[in-house]
Amino acid sequence: MESRQRWEQIRRNEHRRKKAKQRLLIASAFVLVVGIIFGSILGGAIGKGPLKKEVKALTEKLQEAEKAAVETAKQSEKHENLEDAELPWNLVLVNKWNEMEEGYVPELTEVAEGYEVDSRIADAVKEMLSDAKEAGLNPIICSAYRSLDKQEELFDDNMKEKVRNGMGYYDAYMEASTMVAVPGTSEHALGLAVDIVSIDNQMLDESQEETAEAKWLIENCHKYGFILRYPNGTTDITGIIYEPWHYRYVGVEIATEITELGVTFEEYLEEHYEP
Ligand SMILES: [Zn+2]
Repeated sequence: MESRQRWEQIRRNEHRRKKAKQRLLIASAFVLVVGIIFGSILGGAIGKGPLKKEVKALTEKLQEAEKAAVETAKQSEKHENLEDAELPWNLVLVNKWNEMEEGYVPELTEVAEGYEVDSRIADAVKEMLSDAKEAGLNPIICSAYRSLDKQEELFDDNMKEKVRNGMGYYDAYMEASTMVAVPGTSEHALGLAVDIVSIDNQMLDESQEETAEAKWLIENCHKYGFILRYPNGTTDITGIIYEPWHYRYVGVEIATEITELGVTFEEYLEEHYEP
């Protein structure tokens, strides 16, 4: 079997496994709630005897567990709803847990030599860069739209090397996915993300945040409709390391709201977005 076919199969299985786990969580929460109600009734019936204290403590513990279970189920459901929700084009969520629509290709416009973005955000990108230059800075784009094919190629190469070095396909898949976005889960394929660095520091690491370019962009990007997509300390929520160079377009209004709230895109959609 071809390497590509193998990891595509693994990807599909992993996706199904996640879905099943989510459904199981919701189901177990409800079973627990029913159990607690039943337990409380029973507890009330024998609660008059010497066991009263123990029953009371147990009931309290069960109530706590109930709260936690309901909360977990709610979170899972939210996640699922978000995936199924019809979000407008500028708010489409793509991450480790939400794959982009298969076969989606945006209409593209070139914003710098060799770099294209979704045509609808081309003006915003150009304006942001020219204003930064006017402020005496030298920002340069180092990544914009990346096709799904390109992402698949990157991922496939990364995995093949691991397999050549003796790793099994599944382990190679899991390890590769921490280094290269699994095809279908990269925002760059939407054409709504740009990586921008300082001409004086083109390293894609945390040192980027120290550059005058990054400081200006982080402070001003919302005025052009962008957010710093993967802020420091949010890996648990976004699934991606701190990237003080990756900007995502969401529109001026929402970008300003997200910046004022100081939340991630994921948190914003879950807690504050109302269609
Ligand atoms: Zn990026």
